Amino acid sequence: MKKLLLFFLMGCMIQITMAQTTYLLCGQLVDTKTGTIAAKKTIIVKENKIYKVMDGYVSPKSATAITVDLKDKVVLPGLIDFHVHIEQEFDRNTRLNKYILNEADVAFNSVGFAKTTLLNGFTTVRDLGGTGVNISVRNAINAGKIPGPRVFTAGKSLATTGGHADPTNGSSRVLLGNPGPKEGVVNSVEDAKKAVRQRYKNGADCIKITATGGVLSVAKSGDNPQFTIEEVKAICETAKDYGMHVAAHAHGDEGMQRAIIGGVKTIEHGTYMSAETMELMKKHDAYLVPTITAGKEVEEKAKIPGFYPAIVVPKALAVGPQIQGTFAKAYKSGVGIAFGTDAGVFKHGNNGKEFGFMVAAGMPAMETIQSATITNAMLLQMQNEIGQIKKGFYADIIAVDDDPTKNIATMENVVFVMKDGVIYKK
Ligand SMILES: [Zn+2]
Repeated sequence: MKKLLLFFLMGCMIQITMAQTTYLLCGQLVDTKTGTIAAKKTIIVKENKIYKVMDGYVSPKSATAITVDLKDKVVLPGLIDFHVHIEQEFDRNTRLNKYILNEADVAFNSVGFAKTTLLNGFTTVRDLGGTGVNISVRNAINAGKIPGPRVFTAGKSLATTGGHADPTNGSSRVLLGNPGPKEGVVNSVEDAKKAVRQRYKNGADCIKITATGGVLSVAKSGDNPQFTIEEVKAICETAKDYGMHVAAHAHGDEGMQRAIIGGVKTIEHGTYMSAETMELMKKHDAYLVPTITAGKEVEEKAKIPGFYPAIVVPKALAVGPQIQGTFAKAYKSGVGIAFGTDAGVFKHGNNGKEFGFMVAAGMPAMETIQSATITNAMLLQMQNEIGQIKKGFYADIIAVDDDPTKNIATMENVVFVMKDGVIYKK
């Protein structure tokens, strides 16, 4: 018997068909491993896994199995965004929000962001920093309480005092306080170890550091180095002990080099990356997470008077236009690319725009899709579970109207979403 669950969220109703046997008739099917597209395939999904992929259109023998006709669609594995902020969405009030919102408000906002992300084809995300509510959001999704992508979260980002993710940055002196390792602020090797262990205790899956200044923090520099190499090393070594990898936000070259030498796995943004640093990335097997969409967004919003605090505007106008060009050079030089957008800096659900920006910068469409599937699955050490449509993998499956190798904009309009064998959008 088919079990139906109804979710009433943000005024919308989503009807979810619980796991059973489903036949997906695919007009075209993208093989992310080989980078090819095959015609007329049937995917058989049992419970939450892919049971079989067959040639041609196959009808189920059992009367209880359901068939989904995707004969005029292009079917792909669920997409993986390696850089989102599931808790927040920047607007004019963001600076004020940290003083007026309670954790429950943040949680309710996150419910909508998680749903939107999933319905736009992103069945897995790496969340790179929030207040810690992100850990509860992940747990609620995993428990089936709310719809959303598989979340791997850093919890709260690690910063130095006054650094890009210092939680009281830009506050009046009355509110500045003295946040320490527990709150994610470190100023020594010992602090660094403690902060990583605290994230582990809190339930984080990975660690995020702000290796340089950033655009949207209320602070002067958008690119200065903010950790010593000893602190980065202590973070990376401690994280490794706890089975976590480290992601480093970085715009400036010096901070980026310290992060790579210190052992981080991914460099986020990479705005002012020099040719020398690109060589360092390859040598240390570090990946660039481009976030071009966020660069475009901050450049555009910085031109609207009053949208950002005054101190942010020149940083946004300087950093924003650089990101796509640096990505183009890094890709060309052979740096590994891990698809990631920084959704939350712009509206959740627009993550698919990144594909077009990457293609415009010279990366072939199929490679952008591989970056958002097999590369990110590998970096999550889930290469045998997600990122491909293959027997035994989780049934995370999406569909678009057009062949993305001919029309990359189709990735902005995902028309079918299945995660874990459950259909969320049809
Ligand atoms: Zn970010």
